[in-house]
Amino acid sequence: MSEHLTTVAEVAVDTRHWIGGERIASTETFTDVSPIDGGVLGEIARGTAMEAAAAVAAAKAAFPAWAATPRAERARILHAVADGVERRLEELAAVETADNGALLRSHRRGVMPRVAHNFRFFADWLLRLGHEDFDTRGHTNHVSWDPAGPCVLITPWNAPLMLATWKIAPALAAGNTVVLKPAEWTPLTASLLADIADGAGLPAGVLNVVQGYGSEIGHALTAHPDVRRISFTGSVPTARRIASSAAAHLTPLSLELGGKSPLLVFADADLDLAADLAVEQYDNAGQVCLAATRILVEETVAEEFTRRFTDRAARLRQGDPRDETTDIGPNIHRRQLEKIDGFVQRALAAGARAVIGGHRGEGQYYAPTLLTDVAQDSEIVQEEVFGPVLTLQTFTDEDEAVRLANGTRFGLAATVATGDAGRAERVTARLVAGTVWVNCFFVRDLKAPFGGSRHSGVGREGATWSFDFYCDLKNTVTAPMGGKDRG
Ligand code: NAD
Repeated sequence: MSEHLTTVAEVAVDTRHWIGGERIASTETFTDVSPIDGGVLGEIARGTAMEAAAAVAAAKAAFPAWAATPRAERARILHAVADGVERRLEELAAVETADNGALLRSHRRGVMPRVAHNFRFFADWLLRLGHEDFDTRGHTNHVSWDPAGPCVLITPWNAPLMLATWKIAPALAAGNTVVLKPAEWTPLTASLLADIADGAGLPAGVLNVVQGYGSEIGHALTAHPDVRRISFTGSVPTARRIASSAAAHLTPLSLELGGKSPLLVFADADLDLAADLAVEQYDNAGQVCLAATRILVEETVAEEFTRRFTDRAARLRQGDPRDETTDIGPNIHRRQLEKIDGFVQRALAAGARAVIGGHRGEGQYYAPTLLTDVAQDSEIVQEEVFGPVLTLQTFTDEDEAVRLANGTRFGLAATVATGDAGRAERVTARLVAGTVWVNCFFVRDLKAPFGGSRHSGVGREGATWSFDFYCDLKNTVTAPMGGKDRG
């Protein structure tokens, strides 16, 4: 198979829905194009409320048998799915790169192995899940994680299969059935996953994959009365719509949303490390929810930090994401590029200065940009751009650093660069964020809770936190058998 994939036909991705173990077409389709060269990848089934209802019905029908399947058997099948992902890793990596434009080398070495790991991790965690029973005046308390029912999972385009599987794996491990709707800009790897899961022996209807627009099939899924959980990763405006659909049936929600995370660089930091961390924020062309897009630097070192940053940024190679040497690929879509440029041009018009970039590149690329002279209450500092655009502000002391860092409506992540352990402790304690990194970035473990505070999300995922969300927790209190104590 060619690395330089240009059509779906080259890897035979089925572009129909996968419902109840069968491929189902829709009367209408939409066109999926590659951000790399605008080439048409395929015509994808455009689902409606009808396919949403069929998928939820299939998930509901499959639920009792899957929920009753012994834990060890569920775990075995999830490991078999991971085996299938590993066997088709090259193909998944190539298709994902063609579809969303992120680096092929990252997909091969980081993302797709992590997709397999998602299944293995939650399969293994299922087997060790459980509290020790405890005693209340001679009565035994036993906590169990009962499967909740059909789950709807809705995911974005920036890390399609990684984000989908870190919902699918715990949902299935917990004994639930799933309807996944991937983003319409990146529908392909989810469809391949359906084939892989089928090949691994996952029973029909346990995992369903439907395609289409959020406002059509996405809305119908989240408004469906038989859905027992909705897990969504995406933007704040969509989260509001989904939350209001879910309100009608009080469907429990998990929301992983956007961010405007800070990188705080103190004068006592290793400035080379700080500059490396800052340049890393251009990864995936800035389309990373966790990206520390607001660089906050202590005034005394701002000039030196900026020099080291720009030296490094000048060495970044922007180009075809299929080439080994490329650092930054294209942005996902023409519309996203226009959105990014709109933010930058409005910031420049409002008085910001572009230290680097500040304009579009060739085709669907945006020049890596650093803007300074930006006010804390300006749009460019407050709103998520989701492109390779960073801002730089300075601070004079810890209080000001923390005030600026916490001064948006988001709270997804924060990164602190400092050489002083005491300062690290003081500052991290005051930051509002689901994840805080000190002198590092993007080190993540599925054992840790992951999620956002404030408008960056509702709930946490990872390890037992995922099972807590995907299950109906039950406490069973048993009196001593034959005992008379009714205390
Ligand atoms: P988006 O909100 O536009 O779309 C996400 C998904 O929601 C898509 O599948 C879309 O079809 C669907 N959708 C849209 N309207 C819907 C509706 N009314 N009902 C049901 N579904 C609907 O987001 P996006 O542009 O695809 O993704 C980028 C956003 O995702 C950014 O804000 C980014 O920060 C966020 N994100 C967050 C995390 C995290 O873990 N916190 C991870 C990745 C991305």
